[in-house]
Amino acid sequence: MTAQLIDGTAIAAAIRQETADAAAKLKQEHGIVPGLATVLVGENPASKAYVGSKQRACEELGMASIGRKLPANASQAEVEKVVADLNADPNVHGILVQLPLPRHMDEEKVLSAISLEKDVDGFHPVNIGRLSMKGREPLFVPCTPAGCVELLVRSGVEIGGKEAVVLGRSNIVGLPVAMLLLHRNATITICHSRTADLPATCRRADILIAAVGRAEMVKRDWVKPGAAVIDVGINQVWEAHPADKEYTCAVTGETFVAHLEDESEKGGRRKVGDFCPSCNKAWLKGQAAPDCGADCEPVALYRKYKLVGDVDFAEVNEVAGHLTPVPGGVGPMTIAMLMHNTYRGALHTIG
Ligand code: NAP
Repeated sequence: MTAQLIDGTAIAAAIRQETADAAAKLKQEHGIVPGLATVLVGENPASKAYVGSKQRACEELGMASIGRKLPANASQAEVEKVVADLNADPNVHGILVQLPLPRHMDEEKVLSAISLEKDVDGFHPVNIGRLSMKGREPLFVPCTPAGCVELLVRSGVEIGGKEAVVLGRSNIVGLPVAMLLLHRNATITICHSRTADLPATCRRADILIAAVGRAEMVKRDWVKPGAAVIDVGINQVWEAHPADKEYTCAVTGETFVAHLEDESEKGGRRKVGDFCPSCNKAWLKGQAAPDCGADCEPVALYRKYKLVGDVDFAEVNEVAGHLTPVPGGVGPMTIAMLMHNTYRGALHTIG
């Protein structure tokens, strides 16, 4: 028997549609357009891509997107001033400071500067504190953890009275998802790198949330038959390509496996070096091209990567009752929940 697949792409699309409909109603009845402000400090390509996808989601859902960009060397005071201005802007209902911030910044101070009413990421210490207390409600719940719980609920997985094991205790996933499940009356165990017997502890779980960042760590014998398994992990692992061969870097002498540019290969590849067909030399990315004479016209060398979760999908699929795939499970839920939080931020303004 195989597990019932939890289709995060479909569930996220449903949440986005519900949020778009609710936002349209808010605009029609109260003239309020939910607005999400993004604050991007520096040029980190992954952060830029994340901010871009959040801005596109706003457009798709009929919400306003307000982008603020600062250079990597911006001061703490400059970033906090941008946050203060956004706090005061009535057209902004949610503020998202893209993490990580450059090393010289005090991340906690910046997150604490966001108004509680606009903390759509749910990372303000007061919101996290309320999430961790019995009988208190945070204004916003962090998006990825909220997405995990939503996947369970919308798939008909019962949470109350069940044994839930959360693998990972980070502030952004493990800890808040454990608190959310506790609020829903599950009995919680949180595992981490010092947990003595991970397989045995995980095997107790009716609901297992894997958020460790270790490719395919959770194996078949870690999972109780019939358990619901939510795989939060996003890990890039090397995947062999038919044209892969071994090259030796002409600069460092290191050997590495790669393949020459293949135009038919779409996505999932990463440039790892260059190769000059005329002098037959290869060199690793980051190294200066060796001096090989007049007509050196290098071509790129690539390695292929694929995304896998923290769960060994093929193995666990045979034993779990419900399972999320990677990609297409938790991933799409994060932005859907962010949009939902932004809508709720706008809704709060009408009391
Ligand atoms: P993190 O901050 O690195 O935390 C990892 C947690 O796993 C820590 O609590 C760590 O324990 C524990 N851990 C690491 N190695 C372990 C091991 N060998 N055995 C037992 N525990 C171990 O990671 P994160 O930010 O929570 O992210 C976790 C994963 O989720 C990553 O793959 C990340 O890319 C992914 N993610 C996905 C989304 C999404 O939208 N789908 C969003 C956020 C994160 P200690 O506390 O003892 O160090």
